[in-house]
Amino acid sequence: MKFSIVSKGDKRSNKIMATVKQYLTDFNLIYDEKLPELVISVGGDGTLLEAFHRYVHRLKSTAFIGIHTGHLGFYADWVPEEIEKLVIEIAKTPYQVVEYPLLEMIIRFKTERKEIRFLALNEATIKTAEGSVVFDVQIRGEHFETFRGDGLCISTPSGSTAYNKALGGAIIHPSIEAIQLTEMASINNRVFRTIGSPLILPKHHTCLLKPMVDRSFLIARDHYTDTYTDVKSIQCRVAKEKVRFVRYRPFPFWNRVRDSFVAEGEEVHKA
Ligand code: NAD
Repeated sequence: MKFSIVSKGDKRSNKIMATVKQYLTDFNLIYDEKLPELVISVGGDGTLLEAFHRYVHRLKSTAFIGIHTGHLGFYADWVPEEIEKLVIEIAKTPYQVVEYPLLEMIIRFKTERKEIRFLALNEATIKTAEGSVVFDVQIRGEHFETFRGDGLCISTPSGSTAYNKALGGAIIHPSIEAIQLTEMASINNRVFRTIGSPLILPKHHTCLLKPMVDRSFLIARDHYTDTYTDVKSIQCRVAKEKVRFVRYRPFPFWNRVRDSFVAEGEEVHKA
């Protein structure tokens, strides 16, 4: 099997990367950064997002696994103390794969500029440095609302515990193929009105955002942000592609949610 490793780049992660690489090549696995079947990220969730975007062009033939060198990661759920165990699993055990839905975003322009399509593992956010964003929000081709506010976040189920959660969005189990639209500080008064609740859209329900006021938009996909001008529309839906994670042991989503967000508080409460 061919594998590749993406490190956060700090001393500890690089050391773990070197050890894992050595162990796996000792087991006759081939290190191949171009065409890996397995991508191991060493660092945090940000490193796994980095690894995802590095290999986003070959999602069908790549599966991901994360070792975290900082606090418990949401995607990176193996700890450095377990690397011998993990290496043996990788070398000897046929792995199981879980697939999670992704977000597809297509940005179209008023000019001749070619449309841009990208995938996000966590979310895409749309903001501006020039005041509020104003969008005609369409769902399945019908006007839904005019949004005016700081911005919008469109997240995947596995990304629902990230930025979306901070915006008051719901946590969605990744077996549900959906995207979630959450507001960032919408303006609501006698003149402007938005729904004010997160919207969860199923597969095939496209959301189209049409800027009603020309702005230079800051559009982030996961941890990358780019600036776009002359935007005609932004289309969001569940992508046809999925991300594949390797599982050598069960780590149910709700256990991960509990361990990341509530377990410590409960321990403090018990003490
Ligand atoms: P970062 O280092 O600032 O990481 C932000 C935190 O988000 C880290 O603690 C990371 O573990 C956590 N995180 C990432 N994905 C997660 C997920 N799916 N579920 C639960 N926690 C998750 O930034 P980064 O490492 O470059 O990561 C980028 C991500 O940061 C973005 O995709 C976005 O979701 C998140 N973010 C969150 C907020 C917020 O909560 N207010 C604001 C900006 C960005």
